[in-house]
Amino acid sequence: MDCIFCRIARGEVKSNILYQDDRAAAFPDINPKAPVHILIIPRKHIDCVADLQDSEEQLMGHLVAIANKLARDNGVAASGFRLVINCGPEGGQLVPHLHLHLLGGRQLGKLG
Ligand code: 5GP
Ligand code: ZN
Repeated sequence: MDCIFCRIARGEVKSNILYQDDRAAAFPDINPKAPVHILIIPRKHIDCVADLQDSEEQLMGHLVAIANKLARDNGVAASGFRLVINCGPEGGQLVPHLHLHLLGGRQLGKLG
């Protein structure tokens, strides 16, 4: 699978891995939109959040738990942060491997 996020998770493409376990990995976004901008991904290649199976509900909860931990570790849990999941072309998804964006460290604008 020639997917950049799969390759990062497998360690084939070097990245500053901030968190990893048997199901997930997290690393800084290469083009950060905020002082804290971390991507949290499942190791399993899932194209988009719309492709999640019922059996993957726990995996999704795990990704959110990792985002919370990283928010605490990066000092934005108290000030506030945003989790974003883009899906599909009109959702603005550029990398077709499910990922959560953790954004924080500045006042984020309103959506829309
Ligand atoms: P999307 O638009 O798909 O929700 O977000 C993809 C994100 O991945 C973008 O914010 C982009 O900057 C980031 N990105 C794309 N390629 C790489 C890469 O090779 N390494 C890292 N760390 N981030 C990447
Ligand atoms: Zn992938």
